[in-house]
Amino acid sequence: MDSFEYVSAPHRVVFGRGTLQELPSMLEKIKVKAVLILCTPQQVSTAEEVKAIIGDTGIAIFSEATMHTPTHITDKAVLVAQEKGVDGIVSVGGGSTVGLGKALSIRTGLPHLCIPTTYAGSEMTPILGETENGRKVTRRDPRILPTAVLYDVELFKTLPVTMTVYSGINAIAHAVEALYATNRNPIIDLLAYEGIRTLCIALPLLQADGNDPAARQQALYGAWLCGMCLGAVDMALHHKLCHTLGGMFNLPHAETHVVLLPHALAYNATAPAAAGAMVKLAAALPEAEGDPVRGINALYQRLGIDLSLKGLGMSEGGVDEACDVAIANPYKNPRVLEREGIRELIRRAWAGEAAK
Ligand code: NAD
Repeated sequence: MDSFEYVSAPHRVVFGRGTLQELPSMLEKIKVKAVLILCTPQQVSTAEEVKAIIGDTGIAIFSEATMHTPTHITDKAVLVAQEKGVDGIVSVGGGSTVGLGKALSIRTGLPHLCIPTTYAGSEMTPILGETENGRKVTRRDPRILPTAVLYDVELFKTLPVTMTVYSGINAIAHAVEALYATNRNPIIDLLAYEGIRTLCIALPLLQADGNDPAARQQALYGAWLCGMCLGAVDMALHHKLCHTLGGMFNLPHAETHVVLLPHALAYNATAPAAAGAMVKLAAALPEAEGDPVRGINALYQRLGIDLSLKGLGMSEGGVDEACDVAIANPYKNPRVLEREGIRELIRRAWAGEAAK
């Protein structure tokens, strides 16, 4: 085994069913007495549920969380936090709401407790992407990592089955790229393997029955592990492409991950630097029979996934445009970025062809 560095995230996590009831004691542990609750306009009722549980500690709800964390929304939230004199933040929602919580926390220094309701994994990372004048800038800072995380499976009952599947694949993508990250390590390998394996069991069960409580719990556990992978090591081609295409063509986050993952994986699968990762990945994917691309294609078939970049609204002309941007700034990836190969990858994803 090679030498390695492992940086663990020193934050508190509670996981289970009905754990929302433990919110008052968690807030006590992080010494927060007056909370601003964050959510999207679509999840106000969940935020109200949170407020009811914490009683007088819940000072106000700010319900303007938006995709890509626009700074003008954070400016508004900062003003509300100051006006109300809160000493802590609770974000309840998906990656968009967690993003607002992180942005508000780093600006104000207030402790941030996250209650995730999707599998995107942002709550486990010290990463924040913010948008100003249409430009998204992403940074990493240990102070961005939330102070505490409360996972309650019950909050996932309202997540529609298609979003469950897409968000679960989004989580799997973090673990796939962690396996071949240049700064990977054996601890993260374990989390990645277990995260993928668990989600591959849970997602087909949830697709058959979105109310299956054991499968929901398994999916959330797997997503937690995958989120830790995203937070701990560097991502490569797949995440860079999602970021580039998502920004250029305003594509939805989880769906873009779903479309690109098999193609980015197929591109990297033959790279000698990814050989060990592919063995581990094939072992985690059912039906892979030693071939991870076959494994991911089989998973998609089982889940009935039929998405394309074209279907998400990207024009055909965007293929070359996206390719130019994707190869313009070099980044760490197990296989060298070759124009022809990257263009073909994006073209296949655009047309909705199977990865190979
Ligand atoms: P999202 O947070 O935008 O949520 C999508 C929609 O689903 C919203 O309307 C939301 O209110 C609704 N929703 C969420 N949970 C629900 C539930 N349980 N029941 C019913 N409706 C629910 O989507 P997302 O995919 O979770 O997050 C995407 C955003 O997160 C992107 O901006 C992405 O860049 C960011 N992200 C950041 C990181 C990071 O580490 N910084 C990691 C992953 C994602």
